[in-house]
Amino acid sequence: MAESSSLYAPDWLAYPQEPAHLDPAIWEASFQRTASGQVEVDGLPVTQLAQDYGTPAYLFSETVFRARASRFRQAFEEAFAPYGGEVSVYYAGKSFLTTAVAAWAIQEGLYLDTASGGELALAQGAGVPGERIALHGNNKSAAEIERALTYEVGRLVADSVPELELIGRVAEGLGKQAPVMLRVTPGVHASTHDFIATAHEDQKFGQSMLAGTARLAGLTEAQLAELGLSQDDSYAAVALALAHQSPHLDLRGLHCHIGSQIFEAEGFAQAADRVLTFAAQMQEGLGVSLPELDLGGGYGIAYTQQDAPRSPEQVAGQLASSVMASCQRLGISLPHLSFEPGRSISGPSGATLYEVGTIKDIEVEDAEGKTRLRRYVSVDGGMSDNPRPVLYEADYTVTLANRAPEGQQLLSRVVGKHCESGDIVIRYCYLPADLKAGDLLLVAATGAYNHVMASNYNYVTRPPVVTTAVGGTARLMVRRETEEDMLQRDLGLL
Ligand SMILES: *Cc1c(COP(=O)(O)O)cnc(C)c1O
Repeated sequence: MAESSSLYAPDWLAYPQEPAHLDPAIWEASFQRTASGQVEVDGLPVTQLAQDYGTPAYLFSETVFRARASRFRQAFEEAFAPYGGEVSVYYAGKSFLTTAVAAWAIQEGLYLDTASGGELALAQGAGVPGERIALHGNNKSAAEIERALTYEVGRLVADSVPELELIGRVAEGLGKQAPVMLRVTPGVHASTHDFIATAHEDQKFGQSMLAGTARLAGLTEAQLAELGLSQDDSYAAVALALAHQSPHLDLRGLHCHIGSQIFEAEGFAQAADRVLTFAAQMQEGLGVSLPELDLGGGYGIAYTQQDAPRSPEQVAGQLASSVMASCQRLGISLPHLSFEPGRSISGPSGATLYEVGTIKDIEVEDAEGKTRLRRYVSVDGGMSDNPRPVLYEADYTVTLANRAPEGQQLLSRVVGKHCESGDIVIRYCYLPADLKAGDLLLVAATGAYNHVMASNYNYVTRPPVVTTAVGGTARLMVRRETEEDMLQRDLGLL
């Protein structure tokens, strides 16, 4: 019977021989199934957590977060140390950010990437020193820039010529000099979902390094000539020359970020090589100095059995050797390197706890026209707490968490409670045939891009974030949204 349902499973999803087993490639060691059959997080049984905090709830392990943050930092520092390279590792806050998490990242020796005035406000509230913060974004407002400069953030990453000019004007008004990096587009199409591959040319981020794109910067021929450039140069060259010339901008170097959830080393090596080649050309041709290079983040994690991420040490080691090879080929010295892992730190730190509600079996025809069963399992959350399946066709792994999954396993689809047929939490999984309402499901690796992307669709309140740590402590990090919170912005206009 198991074999017949497996016709509906994608190739990567095997019928579980040991359904109680938590694959350590997907579940960090803080997530363990005990002899009772129940899953514990940092030693806390999920039934206890559900009782104390309700469901759905995001569970976020401080233990895992701190360990992954410091492991990435150390891996990069150690990989570049033999070459005398200095490294800063930024935690990409947009993947998961709370006051405590910002503080943990700093305590573990990392810097913090922010991507909006709101993220910056949170970092300030957490007491993150300005020099430890970078501000990103492709459309920063004057107010956001002013906030960043007033707080004296370490780096502003400029995404276009108009933005660079705006940063210059705001800095001038404040009587300051803005430390800027210029984001460039290395033209590498990393193999990931199209919406999160951000370095090929036809997308909104970064500035082109391609010859002949200078004219897109909107300067006259005479203005270009004044900068020592012509229409044969690149858009990024214009930005560099403008930044170099401005007394209000302190040009630190180039930045690139090729995408997210990337597994291969190749894309990163290629991007680094292209950016370093461009940096060498510009230092030579324009006489600018570019002492820093920020290579972004994007390292993939295991959501399901089909994902095979590299370890932080492999990621850092491969990047160090490819960056060194490029520098040697170009005859330039190693710049100060920065990296910005987000998901690879926060993702495996979190999991989402749901309660099972209605269960419905559907008959569908398979490829051979045979009638088959598909089980729909509804949970008490969905696309409002995890929009990634809808946005990116993301897959996740789920396990029955309040007791051991035993006996026959059925091919199932876990769906949310929203008014959309696309409201899927897990497209394909095996769950025990005796699953019933009131059981608890735990979805792995939801620490990144879930809480921070949550919405109130269908006026569903957003879940709390409960943080756990070794020794069996649980603390409420973000409380559950109440209906009152949610409705108070509606001013009751009749
Ligand atoms: C999103 C983002 C990151 C982090 O990406 P992850 O895939 O979460 O590692 C880093 N840098 C920039 C500029 C980003 O936009």
